[in-house]
Amino acid sequence: MKKVLIANRGEIACRVIRGCHDLGLAAVAVYSAADAEAKHVAEADEALPIGPAPAKESYLVAENVLAAARASGADAVHPGYGFLAENDDFASAVSDAGLIWIGPRPETIAAMGDKERARQLAHGAGLPIVPGSARFLPGDLAGLAEAGSEIGYPLLVKASAGGGGIGMRRVDDAAALADTVEATQNLAGKAFGNDAVYLEKYIERPRHVEIQVFGFGDGHAVHFFERECSIQRRFQKIVEETPSPSISEATRVGMAEAAVALASQERYRGAGTVEFIMDEAGDYYFLEMNTRIQVEHPVTEMITGQDLVGLQLRLARGDDLTSLAQDTIRAEGHAIECRVYAENPDKNFLPSPGPLERFEPPAAADGIRVDTGVRQGDTVTYFYDPMIAKLIAHGADRAAAIQKMLAALEAFRVEGIVTNIPFLRRVVAHDAFRAGATHTGFVEQHKAALLAG
Ligand code: ADP
Repeated sequence: MKKVLIANRGEIACRVIRGCHDLGLAAVAVYSAADAEAKHVAEADEALPIGPAPAKESYLVAENVLAAARASGADAVHPGYGFLAENDDFASAVSDAGLIWIGPRPETIAAMGDKERARQLAHGAGLPIVPGSARFLPGDLAGLAEAGSEIGYPLLVKASAGGGGIGMRRVDDAAALADTVEATQNLAGKAFGNDAVYLEKYIERPRHVEIQVFGFGDGHAVHFFERECSIQRRFQKIVEETPSPSISEATRVGMAEAAVALASQERYRGAGTVEFIMDEAGDYYFLEMNTRIQVEHPVTEMITGQDLVGLQLRLARGDDLTSLAQDTIRAEGHAIECRVYAENPDKNFLPSPGPLERFEPPAAADGIRVDTGVRQGDTVTYFYDPMIAKLIAHGADRAAAIQKMLAALEAFRVEGIVTNIPFLRRVVAHDAFRAGATHTGFVEQHKAALLAG
């Protein structure tokens, strides 16, 4: 493996390009018409166009990406996250084309991409799962009312193929169940091409805690501790940290062992994340497994000193990774990541594309890391996810990491577009955040204090 095509854009494409260069690998970028001048294109060794600006006509078109891989002479494909990263057909097509797929086996991607199937696999590996139902397909709602009353209300209707917080609806009473199930099936069919849904108990004021795992593909896997990602808007994470400010030592050990058990059972290959939801009593349940590198992986890299993208590349290249034993993976200090978005929190987090007249992140030094896919002068378009940067702060303890993060957010200068930077400052400075009183309804609970009004 000498040349890697990165089937992505933005900060993660830049991150993977850096990982390739660190290992002496050439990096090939692909770009849509909107991205011809983008940072990831400039940083790659070569770059090929794959179609018009809309992702559906470029970054999501497997044939175009494969054609670019062939034309460039790349011998491997790294998908990043999003776009084709969890598309098992694409993973198979890459392998069928004689290229190395930098990710788990297609069967693993398919199994975990179906949340209801993933729940069964997790259950089989001994993980606790959220009380829930089997799947319901359109036209066959037999047993639905019974399943609803057995789980109890409120509950969530979830699309089996859902992702990115889409395809999840809360139901507060039995009368609304059938209609919500049908509406979610309908939406899931259109959005994901799979209309299966299932029911899951709605956990009140939960925390989202996840374990970073790395599998060697042979039934052996290690973990890199947990990340807490409870600060969310619209079921999507905006602030992540490690260690979790709230879990007991017993929980953290139990969760990590459970995640490794699942990865081992699946003979998992590469980097993955096992997500859990934790209730107010501290009981936790398997939520889903993401079969790719995660947006928030840098906090784990900061506290462990490990290079997760580098490990993905080295495993794919066939390097001997036997020295990566569990007891060699250690964590030090506390790291927090804030996702900087081109969006307006005061307008219900509406994306705010436009020209980056000024873009000056804080200097990356002394426990501050900035992962970004944009530069001053670039234009943020409405075609893609509006995340423009990830700001990561690492300190000796949580209070120190918070202090560093606040100073870094203060120093971050963006002009020309509206960003969520002031909002992020208010989140991280909030007494409840400082106290570690985080849960997925944090933004809603404290919105009066968090929004400028
Ligand atoms: P997606 O794949 O769309 O990201 P997840 O299953 O990972 O969906 O859930 C995303 C978020 O939705 C969780 O972090 C949590 O905030 C919320 N959530 C998911 N399941 C539940 C549940 N059973 N009860 C309460 N909140 C939930």
